[in-house]
Amino acid sequence: MAARADRAVRAERGAPRAGSLRWTQARDRWRVVTQNVDDLHVRAGTKDLVRLHGSIFELRCWNHCPGSPHPWRDERVPLPVMPPKCPRCGGLARPAVVWFGESLDPANIAAADALTACDVFIAAGTSALVYPAAGLLHTARARGAFTAELNVEATDATALVDAAVQGRVEETLAEVDAMI
Ligand SMILES: [Zn+2]
Repeated sequence: MAARADRAVRAERGAPRAGSLRWTQARDRWRVVTQNVDDLHVRAGTKDLVRLHGSIFELRCWNHCPGSPHPWRDERVPLPVMPPKCPRCGGLARPAVVWFGESLDPANIAAADALTACDVFIAAGTSALVYPAAGLLHTARARGAFTAELNVEATDATALVDAAVQGRVEETLAEVDAMI
């Protein structure tokens, strides 16, 4: 990021994509970090999106063969050839998502971490349990951000944030949106 982000919003499973779309388009200093792999954020047009766990609509070569796209996008449902093949080496392709036990892309971790240098950090619709994503909230707080949690229920982070609002995120995020 060339400029310091003023605010970051972290939206996760169950979070309102339409809301985050509006926030990132109408307020150009909001950014979104997501653990979702369904790309609803992408389809909604959310800008400056960090996808920590990748995308099920992107593929990469199992063999990491030289010259294969890293990754490539294929939104066809279902894919015409199963299992999908690498266009370069003809070997098997796999979804470009982070599977259990795999490491996150360091570039995505760095991008998400950079967003914690913000004025306001909102964790929306997440149980705040999965690291390293869960650590972003704490990092943002340590860096001086005002932190808020919007979630349907209390989490481990509730006692640590400056403001915690419990309720359906679709509604509470809209309320926050109306206040700022
Ligand atoms: Zn290949």
